[in-house]
Amino acid sequence: ESLEPAFADLTANGFDLGGSGSVVRTPSCCVGPARCEWACFDTLALTYDLTQHYQDEIHRPSLPYKFKIKASGCPNDCVAAIARADLSIIGTWRGPIGVEQEAVAAYAEGGLDIRANVVDRCPSKCMSWDGRRLEIDNSACARCMHCINVMPKALRPGPERGACILIGGKAPIVSGAMLSAVLVPFMTLEPPYTELKALIARILEVWGDEGKNRERVGEV
Ligand code: SF4
Repeated sequence: ESLEPAFADLTANGFDLGGSGSVVRTPSCCVGPARCEWACFDTLALTYDLTQHYQDEIHRPSLPYKFKIKASGCPNDCVAAIARADLSIIGTWRGPIGVEQEAVAAYAEGGLDIRANVVDRCPSKCMSWDGRRLEIDNSACARCMHCINVMPKALRPGPERGACILIGGKAPIVSGAMLSAVLVPFMTLEPPYTELKALIARILEVWGDEGKNRERVGEV
């Protein structure tokens, strides 16, 4: 019971004891287009831009608690943004998955069991394979990346690329771990990212007004 008072006394006497700054944290992202063919937007350019844009919010505590922004270029989500960020920006696409039937057939001839390893593992059961052609019901596709990961030479994300914006992820601090939930299903992400910055401004405003001290945006 002496811990918090001791912390307060030392802080009052000018000691910087660290702790969690109530700021926008330095944004982070996957390696994206620098090294990965699946990036649906330029994660590095976005992260650099946001890091510059939010310098004030990064350095001057003005929020109820910390606010983390993490960006993954595709639904593989290599930075685990969905579990770790208050604002998770995860690349996705609109339109049909690109299919090269000849390359699909080459995988089959090379020994890949397409029914067992691709079709039956599709979480939304939107694929069929008759031994010659792979058909995809794109309206039912959940954009999980599984089929593309298994057959990267035959399948690719759809033509219109952008990101899904999710809100509320965090590790267990005050009231348990939370995964981010979808806020905007699809947003095109091109400089100067006006739409995304307008959204972040509105989130910070509402959370700043309504959030209690040490309450993450997902809890609000
Ligand atoms: Fe590549 Fe997607 Fe992983 Fe980013 S999240 S490194 S784009 S596979």
